[in-house]
Amino acid sequence: RLEIRNLVRRFGGQAVVDHVSLRVMPGQVTCLLGPSGCGKSTTLRMIAGVEMQDEGEIYVDGQLICDTVFRVPPERRAIGLMFQDFALFPHLSVAENVSFGLKGPKEARRARVEELLERVGMVRFIDGYPHELSGGEQQRVALARALAPRPRIMLMDEPFSGLDNRLRDDIRDQTLEILKQEDAAVLLVTHEPDEAMRMADEIALMRAGRIVQQGAPYNIYNAPVDRQAVAFFSDIN
Ligand code: ATP
Ligand code: MG
Repeated sequence: RLEIRNLVRRFGGQAVVDHVSLRVMPGQVTCLLGPSGCGKSTTLRMIAGVEMQDEGEIYVDGQLICDTVFRVPPERRAIGLMFQDFALFPHLSVAENVSFGLKGPKEARRARVEELLERVGMVRFIDGYPHELSGGEQQRVALARALAPRPRIMLMDEPFSGLDNRLRDDIRDQTLEILKQEDAAVLLVTHEPDEAMRMADEIALMRAGRIVQQGAPYNIYNAPVDRQAVAFFSDIN
């Protein structure tokens, strides 16, 4: 499970992430939902370890991985990443992309690669290259790559935003199913309320660096905390 406590990040004296606390359990999807610039990506980058917080702590399965003095490096955090601009390696085949972060004997790596490509429906492209794939297909391979090392935590930053509407719904549903099977704790960033409603077990509504409301999607949708939250949700039906 993922737990963050009172994370703060300041740029030029301004707190863009302002005492954010969250807990995500295995097999659960928590959506960090909020308008552009509210600090969602900065929060994810601190958890991934590519950005340092000014205050606060991050725990994975109860173990401290980062505070302001102690810091586990990103590659040792058991965290999978799927970002919109986190593209596949163009010079590597699909199989090589998925096995990139894997260690151990070759046969075991190969088996894991095949298992994941099977699960995302991409096994027939195993020897293909990224430029031969559509956006949605690349997205599936990126999901397989992120899940390959069996991360305890998955961080996803607007991973579906490059896809057209019809494809996006399918991929969202498939992705959700696979994430549940893998039993990872998922923190999904989006600025689209309908995506959060569709995918989240819990929504954390963020605004100007703070979490202003947190709870089950249905509860947040039905009882928005204030007028701004009402307005934010008003474009879905
Ligand atoms: P979006 O939905 O547009 O992706 P976001 O919620 O992910 O927005 P962040 O990328 O976390 O927003 O940025 C939050 C705020 O912090 C923004 O105002 C941004 O300009 C600022 N910011 C982010 N990184 C830096 C940086 N390295 N230096 C200065 N300001 C930064
Ligand atoms: Mg962002």
